[in-house]
Amino acid sequence: MIAVYPGSFDPITLGHLDIITRSSRLYDHVIVVVSRNPIKNPMFSVEERLGQIRQSTAHLGNVEIDSFDGLTVNYAHQRQAKVLIRGLRVLSDFEKELQMAHTNKTLADDLETVFLVTSTEYGFLSSSLVKEIARFGAAIGHLVPEHVAQDIQKWYGKNLPSITVG
Ligand code: ADP
Repeated sequence: MIAVYPGSFDPITLGHLDIITRSSRLYDHVIVVVSRNPIKNPMFSVEERLGQIRQSTAHLGNVEIDSFDGLTVNYAHQRQAKVLIRGLRVLSDFEKELQMAHTNKTLADDLETVFLVTSTEYGFLSSSLVKEIARFGAAIGHLVPEHVAQDIQKWYGKNLPSITVG
């Protein structure tokens, strides 16, 4: 069975990677798709995010990386996927995710949204949190893959040269 894991991934965190790894054990093929729909002030371009995810998942044989424009359900149909994966962390995720799952069900009754509950150690982790603390020089090596930590460090070096990320 093919599963699609859509998101912004700006950038990929160890929380995302945990969901990808666990999905890859449940499904024959997992497609991680970066949405091309504009998000507010992205740190990385879609191409950069694709590269970061590709590098982070190179060891997972049944994981593919792609991007899409438009409705996730249309992409899933194109790829013959039957499952949309989403991660749940805290109660505040729930309302938004439930609304999206219901909406997608009205658009595509043949697709199921499957929620994976975050691993305990990543329950607090989000891309925006990583960017926020890196901005003030905190170490982020325990929150994102090493190469992503370097990309963030470079980004702040270029855009906020006075900040040094630990
Ligand atoms: P989106 O803009 O679509 O929410 P994100 O990249 O923020 O994109 O998240 C993609 C998916 O990954 C969402 O379902 C989100 O809840 C989930 N996710 C993000 N961080 C974590 C985490 N630390 N643990 C589990 N799931 C997560």
